Amino acid sequence: MLFNYTYISHEVEKLQEYLDFLFEDVWLPAEGNFDAEKLKGNKQLYDFYVNNHYVDYDVSNDINNDEGVAANFFNSSIEKIFKAFAAINDDDFKLELIDYYSNNNNIEEICSNPKLPILTYKDLETIQKNLGKELKAFYERLYGNKSPFNLKDFGSLKTKSLPAHYQAFFTQNNEGKCPFCGIKDLKGIHHTKKEAYDHYIPKGKFPFSSINFKNLAPMCNDCNSSYKSTKLVVGKMANRNKAFYPYATSQPDIKDFEISIKLKTSDILKIKPKDVELEIKLTDFDEEIGAWKRVFGIDERYKALIASKNVGIDWFQMVNEGYKNAIAMGQTLTKKEFLDMKLFEAKYNLKAENGFLKSVFLEECESMGLF
Ligand SMILES: [Zn+2]
Repeated sequence: MLFNYTYISHEVEKLQEYLDFLFEDVWLPAEGNFDAEKLKGNKQLYDFYVNNHYVDYDVSNDINNDEGVAANFFNSSIEKIFKAFAAINDDDFKLELIDYYSNNNNIEEICSNPKLPILTYKDLETIQKNLGKELKAFYERLYGNKSPFNLKDFGSLKTKSLPAHYQAFFTQNNEGKCPFCGIKDLKGIHHTKKEAYDHYIPKGKFPFSSINFKNLAPMCNDCNSSYKSTKLVVGKMANRNKAFYPYATSQPDIKDFEISIKLKTSDILKIKPKDVELEIKLTDFDEEIGAWKRVFGIDERYKALIASKNVGIDWFQMVNEGYKNAIAMGQTLTKKEFLDMKLFEAKYNLKAENGFLKSVFLEECESMGLF
């Protein structure tokens, strides 16, 4: 990514605290049968469980009752996972799970340390099949249209707390550009529509972090759905790589990237992506750059942009045609001076109008003697 987000603290984080409580205080020490008393340590969860207990209520007969279904799902999942934990006789494995729970939620460390042991559902299901199955069913559904956290008792995630987080997030992170590609605009506080939050470490492959906001980052639709999708930023599990962490505080900024463009044609008006050689470097971040380019299709997208009639080709034309216009209007500057003005504009704000690519592209055109 070309620049990082600033993480914001928000009341929506309390959902993760509920999950921490369930894992540490309810499921890990599970013995015998589940009852409401096991939730006494967390008043909200206890009240929710007691008030939505479904013993005499079969929600499957009431398919229009989405709230009942969601509440039933939440409470019955707590019970099923409790049962799965209670069936484990291996204390060493439970101790390992404590580390995995912590590691899977430490997104920053996952990104920076490929050796950090993290747990996949696939691994878990080979060791404890039932536990893996129950945890996956629960955690995968915690985010999205069917999440029990969309219930009013949990702060109405979808309709209230997430939109509130989005407002606060984009008030702080107000660049208006997607940091993962640098080319798409993001809908922010002045839009009624929202960008989707990406699970940076996919919730379908890794347990425990589906509602961890350090693992959730708004992203443009191209980055999220078209390119990243379910790809892993950390690479193959057997040989993981480092990856950029969206909320890093020390990560370099867009101005620190060394981008070079070499053109294999001088016929810019007919330029194709294959005519563009692109190199992107960032000192000490080789692995991160490799992962980022792979996951977000960066080469393809930047080359397509340069070969686009209304982007790269227009940048080129606006030097030639713009200069002619300046002369026709009585200005006396040389073409080199005019180009320098254009370069100043492109470099003044690298995030505006793809300045980080435009400046390098125009410099390459200049070095080829095309102006
Ligand atoms: Zn993007």
